[in-house]
Amino acid sequence: MSSLEIKNLHAKVENKEILRGVNLTIGEGEVHALMGLNGSGKSTLAYVLAGHPNYEVTEGEVLLGGENILDLEPDERAHRGLFLAFQYPTSIPGVNVANFLRQSYNKVQQSRFMQAHPDAEYKAAPVAEFRKRLDEKMGQLRMDRSFKSRYLNEGFSGGEKKRMEILQMAMLDPKFAIMDETDSGLDIDALRTVAEGVNSQLNGQLGALVITHYQRLLNYIKPQYVHIMMNGHIVANGGPELAEELDVKGYDWLRQTYAPDEPFVGDEREAAPAGPAGAPGITVTRTLTGRS
Ligand code: ADP
Ligand code: MG
Repeated sequence: MSSLEIKNLHAKVENKEILRGVNLTIGEGEVHALMGLNGSGKSTLAYVLAGHPNYEVTEGEVLLGGENILDLEPDERAHRGLFLAFQYPTSIPGVNVANFLRQSYNKVQQSRFMQAHPDAEYKAAPVAEFRKRLDEKMGQLRMDRSFKSRYLNEGFSGGEKKRMEILQMAMLDPKFAIMDETDSGLDIDALRTVAEGVNSQLNGQLGALVITHYQRLLNYIKPQYVHIMMNGHIVANGGPELAEELDVKGYDWLRQTYAPDEPFVGDEREAAPAGPAGAPGITVTRTLTGRS
């Protein structure tokens, strides 16, 4: 049994502490949703898990199948079966989709083969086999074949970029996938297609952390567990009903119920009520009464 265990994870970016003790375990084949307002630290968690160099881990561990991966390079993490679908995928002019996917596919296959057979010689899968797999996965995601020869993400629409991320996930067949706002910027048809593509990968073996701001995506991708992040840590855990309740009652309700002592951060600051219980930075002039 392999699992992804995040234990008391603290991380800084630009010398500012963003993650403040995240605890979360994803078992093999489990689908978890991570929700939270903008600025709560969801993408930071995704980047830290993937090994982005701008993020400095100051405390805690991340175990993948029992091994601490925090000292591993991003590609080594990928070779061990971790995959991150980015919220904002970058484009790589000059590298076409098919070549990019073939290279990452071969790297991951090679690394898996060598872990299983350290003394044997690895031979890359025949191109025909790769092409067949690629065509099949593109079909599932309803992507036009002409995509293969386009430069990676160059001029792609929001929906095309998201499909590209899921295509890459489908090709690499990871053990754990983190999908950061895979729903953002998608109209309802694109959302459905992308969700179907994700669901076709959820075969009981792939563990997934689906990051989303809105409950909407969770109508299509059904998580077994829901976690809510606020101010860099998880303040509430539950099942799908937690996401539904949040959708109806909103984040204010959530805060009052689960985290009344948390300061307002990120986008919340603007939405926070003014006054003594409101946003930091507002000076409350107190009228002194009584003792003098
Ligand atoms: P979410 O994905 O939940 O919207 P983020 O993880 O993107 O939240 O951001 C959490 C906080 O970290 C925000 O206050 C954001 O401004 C800050 N932050 C994230 N990345 C950087 C960065 N590269 N430099 C400075 N601050 C950052
Ligand atoms: Mg984000």
